[in-house]
Amino acid sequence: MKTDKQGTYIKGTKKALPDGWMTGAFRFAVFPTDEQKPRLERAFGCERKVYNEYVAGLYAHLESGGFSGGFLAYNVPNYTTITSRFDFLDRSNDSFVYNDAKIRFQAALKKYNETYAKRPLQHKKSVRKKMKNGDMPSLQDVKGLPKFHSRKQGKFSYTTNQTNGNIRIGEKNGAAFLRIPKFPEGLRLNLHRALPSDGIIKKATIKREGDRYMVAVSVDYPFEQAPLKTQIETADITALDYSQSDLYRDSEGRKAEYPRFHKLIEKRQRRLNKSLARKKNHAPLDENGQPVYSKNYQRTVKNYQKTMAKAANQRKDFLHKKSDQITNDYDAIVVEDLDLTNLAQCLKLGKKLHDNGFGMFRNMLKYKAERKGKHYLVADRFFPSSKLCSACGTKKENLRLSERTYACAHCQAVIDRDHNAALNLKNYGIRTLSDSGFLAEPVSI
Ligand SMILES: [Zn+2]
Repeated sequence: MKTDKQGTYIKGTKKALPDGWMTGAFRFAVFPTDEQKPRLERAFGCERKVYNEYVAGLYAHLESGGFSGGFLAYNVPNYTTITSRFDFLDRSNDSFVYNDAKIRFQAALKKYNETYAKRPLQHKKSVRKKMKNGDMPSLQDVKGLPKFHSRKQGKFSYTTNQTNGNIRIGEKNGAAFLRIPKFPEGLRLNLHRALPSDGIIKKATIKREGDRYMVAVSVDYPFEQAPLKTQIETADITALDYSQSDLYRDSEGRKAEYPRFHKLIEKRQRRLNKSLARKKNHAPLDENGQPVYSKNYQRTVKNYQKTMAKAANQRKDFLHKKSDQITNDYDAIVVEDLDLTNLAQCLKLGKKLHDNGFGMFRNMLKYKAERKGKHYLVADRFFPSSKLCSACGTKKENLRLSERTYACAHCQAVIDRDHNAALNLKNYGIRTLSDSGFLAEPVSI
């Protein structure tokens, strides 16, 4: 459990796990029957309704008080103040459906307070244009404030928490079933890997991605901690230098051979986007002036979601395989200390940088290495991995970002820039491990 500065427990924060335990998420495909599908969709819809009522409540509060940005001290009411106002938000849904809306709303509010409250009030670009013409912006246009969730796009999911064994995975006639509140008959699922045998299910998130249903089961479980490796050979140390175009370059000079998953689907994504815009423009309006979307439009939306989900899954899969391989093959992995958000802003690489998932990759390497008793080393932020010559150690002060090849004026070595940086990181790792007595043969470099 987290504590505040006075050492008091903050209500609702995560309880710390005992030593040797970890939390893992396990994702499975779920196959609801035709009878179950509408019930799941209804739960997703009710979650959204409660969430949107929370947003409406906040907006009403802000409008009455006059909002001009800054920190929001807003008391989030219990969901029952909302569910009691609508007959259809009844007990046919798992009560966690409503609670989940509250949790998500609180998270959105927190995000605003942590990220946007310190900045001056900002509006979306499209709205700024309208404001020039004298139109008044609405709260919905303020950057960072919680927004209404749309029925067409956005999340189709809810999370249910474990209370007294209400979430279970069992078997019926040789098939695996997930039992969650309001679905005691079970949802069939593809249990492609077993959950840890002595694990404890903490929560389950049911979601629809395109036209597929998935569940992410969060499990706390004890893991076997391998003893920390000692007597390490330098050949069993590798270093990875972040590469903007190919995830990383390692100290052996190999590339990650990283497929640009988003690039691969970009064309398809563009086509679907265009098609959606066209359908939106041609949609007839109802009596309130809202467009009435066709079946075809909804199908395309699902298709779009499916495409995006597929790219994200492929990427994650690739990163898992690579990090498994590296943490199996080597006893120590050295990476540089990167502030990814900062880097993205500095170099205007935003989209690309987040696209290749280096942050996610580093997290995977870290926890996998730790579990296997391997060393995960992060070079000091001020370690000049790019500027040093890996052959002679001379430092080149004025190395430009455009110089893709490192040419040393001192020893005449010529080497690929990223490979050179990775070798420097490896040397850093060798020194660090040697200093702390983990090397088979200590070095002095
Ligand atoms: Zn040199």
